[in-house]
Amino acid sequence: MVSKEKDLMEWFSEILKNAELYDYGNYPIKGCGSWLPNGFLLRDKVTSILRELLNETGHKEVLLPLLITREMLEKEAKHIAGFLGQVYWVTKGGEDKLEMELALRPTSETAMAVIFKNFLLSYRDLPLKVYQIVSIFRYETKTTHPMIRVREVNTFKEAFTFSATKEESLEMVKEAYDIYCRFFDKLGIPYITVERPSWDRFPGAEISIAFDTILPDGKSLQIGSIHYLAQNFSKVFDGKFMRRDGSYDYYHMNSYGISERSIAALLIHFGDDIGAIIPPNLAPLQIVIVPIIYESLKNEILDYSKKVHEIIQLAGYKAILDDREDKTPGEKFYEWERLGVPLRIEIGPREIKEQKLFFAERTGNKKHIPLNELFKQIKISFSNIEIQLKNKARNDMFNKIISVDKLASIDEILRNKKVAKFGICEKEECGKTIDKMLTGASFLGYDFMLKSIGNCIVCNSKTERIGYVAKTY
Ligand SMILES: [Zn+2]
Repeated sequence: MVSKEKDLMEWFSEILKNAELYDYGNYPIKGCGSWLPNGFLLRDKVTSILRELLNETGHKEVLLPLLITREMLEKEAKHIAGFLGQVYWVTKGGEDKLEMELALRPTSETAMAVIFKNFLLSYRDLPLKVYQIVSIFRYETKTTHPMIRVREVNTFKEAFTFSATKEESLEMVKEAYDIYCRFFDKLGIPYITVERPSWDRFPGAEISIAFDTILPDGKSLQIGSIHYLAQNFSKVFDGKFMRRDGSYDYYHMNSYGISERSIAALLIHFGDDIGAIIPPNLAPLQIVIVPIIYESLKNEILDYSKKVHEIIQLAGYKAILDDREDKTPGEKFYEWERLGVPLRIEIGPREIKEQKLFFAERTGNKKHIPLNELFKQIKISFSNIEIQLKNKARNDMFNKIISVDKLASIDEILRNKKVAKFGICEKEECGKTIDKMLTGASFLGYDFMLKSIGNCIVCNSKTERIGYVAKTY
C-alpha cells in the first residue's frame, strides 16, 4: 500500500477499497461512487448526527424533484453563470426530443424558490427552515477523487431558510454556523471558517462562509458552506409575502450544504498506513474479539470469548467474535485493523487464568484490564481513541498554518505543503493581488471568527482581518 505521506489521494483510494467502504473506479461512468455495506453504515451514522442537529433546531426534512427546467435555472443571472459549465442536461424522453431541456439539479435554490413561494404567503408562514439529503450532479472537468470531487454528489445535505428580514436571515446564518461547528466537532474534524471573497462566492449569494479543513498534504478541502442569498432568488421567482401591515415584500433566503466530503475528511484525517480508523462513536463495528487458541485450552478459551461477546452486545456495543479457524490471530488482527475497527479484545490462556482481557486500541495503546472492569475500561478506551484522533488531526492541521508578513514568503510555504496566514484588509484589490500572483493555489478569504490587529500584507494599511492562501481540492 502507498503511504499516506507519499500520495494522499492514492492512499485514500486504497483505504476505501481495503476497508470495503466505497467503490470508486469500477463503475463505467467517471465521477460516480458507490457506498458498500460498511461505508453505508458509516454514512448512516454521519447523516443521523446531521439530521438530529437540524431537526432539534427546527429544520424540517423535505424532498424535491431531481429535474429542473432550463427556464428555472436561468432566472437568476449569476446563478446560471456560475453553474452553466457544470450542468448535465436531459434532452430526450424515450426517442422524443424534449421541448424543454431539463437539468439534473446541480443544487436546489431554484427548486426551493419555486415550490415554497406557494406556501409562504404571509408573515405568519415565516420563517421556514427546510433541508433535504439527495444526489446532485455536476459535470466536473478537473481530476475526480472518490467522495471529494465527484460528478454525482450522492450525499448532499442542502438546507434552506426563508425569512421576512435581512436581520433574521443573518441570525439564521449564525445558527447554521453553530450547527456546522457542532457537527464537525462531533466528527472530530478540524476546520477553519472563512468568508469567501466576493469573486469566489456561491453563484447568487451575497455572503458565503466556508468550512475548510487542511488535509495532510497541505491542500484545503471545503467541507461545508453557508450562503446568504438575500432576495436574489425570491425576486426573480416572485416570492412575495404579506407583511403584518398589509404591504408586500420579498423574503430573504439562505442556503447551506454539507456533503460526503465530511466523511472523506474524517477518514483522511484519522487513517494511517495500515488502513482506516473509525472513531468508536461512528464505527458500525466497534469491537472485535479474537480468541488466541491453544489446543489444550481451546474449549475454555472459546467459551470465555463467547461470554464476553454476549455481555458486550447486551450492553449495546456493536461487537463481533472472530472465531474463524482458518485464519491465524495475526491475519485477523491485520484484517480488522484495515477495516478500521477501533478496539480489539484478545483472549488467550493468560487472560483466562488471571480473569483479564487484553485490549488493543486501533490508535496503538495496548493494556490488560480486569474482567470485572470491562465496561468501565471500554468507555475509557473509546474516549481515549476519540480524543487521540481528534487531537492529532487538530494539531497536524494547525501546524500546517504558518503566519507570514511578506507576500514573497507565500510561495515557499505552499511549496512546503503548508497554508499561509496573514493580515489583510477588505479592499477587493488586495485580495485580488494575492490571487493573481498564485499558480495552483488561491486566496481562501477572510477568517470568519478570528480577528487580530495587524497590517494588510498587500497595502500595509491597518486591519483586523486575517486571510489564508492554500492549494485546494
Ligand atoms: Zn490592503
